[in-house]
Amino acid sequence: MSIINTQGLVLKYTNINDADRILTILTRDKGKIKVFAKGCRRPKSRLISSCEVFAFSDLILYKGSNFYHINNCELRESFYELRKDLLSLSYAVYFVELADTVTDEDMYCKNIFLLLAKALYYLSKKEIPLGILTNAYQIKLLDLSGFRPSLKRCVSCGEDGNFTFFNINLGGVICDNCSKEGGTIRINPKTLELFKTLLIKPVSRLNSIKIDNTIFIEAD
Ligand SMILES: [Zn+2]
Repeated sequence: MSIINTQGLVLKYTNINDADRILTILTRDKGKIKVFAKGCRRPKSRLISSCEVFAFSDLILYKGSNFYHINNCELRESFYELRKDLLSLSYAVYFVELADTVTDEDMYCKNIFLLLAKALYYLSKKEIPLGILTNAYQIKLLDLSGFRPSLKRCVSCGEDGNFTFFNINLGGVICDNCSKEGGTIRINPKTLELFKTLLIKPVSRLNSIKIDNTIFIEAD
């Protein structure tokens, strides 16, 4: 029986009978996994706090034939603050659902795990404006999933330049000559600068970004 030491964040779960739960956990080292948490819904279970959605725990796991099982776990962060208001909770659910959508079992996703953990942390602390945090999370997640938008060269012909169009289908800026391609929308150059900043700036430094709200409506 091989033992795995890792950290994980609970994305969702399914209750089984009265006491058990199958968790979907995004882990630091093993990608997204299914974990059978036996007895975790019993009031005195030592697993109880680590088996809620958003729970971030140190985990010691072993692999069974169908699921991973918990040998031991220690809750590091429950992100309880996220449950105190509906807006934070709904954004947290959205962040988790996006991470669930772009990850797969046996896929290396340490960076996505870390991004989600940071996004939930700063969402719970309310130190970063919600719109900035959300846009940054979305664009960084695209990047980490292999869909980094092209923001410096025309996504169709590769030309350099100043861009006023963005092509949603191709995922990047598009030059005036190529702008007849389907899926092209006009983009404010300030929005483009914002996207570039959000892509490279660490989540922890996002609270220093100053933008005006008119750009932000477009970025959303
Ligand atoms: Zn072009």
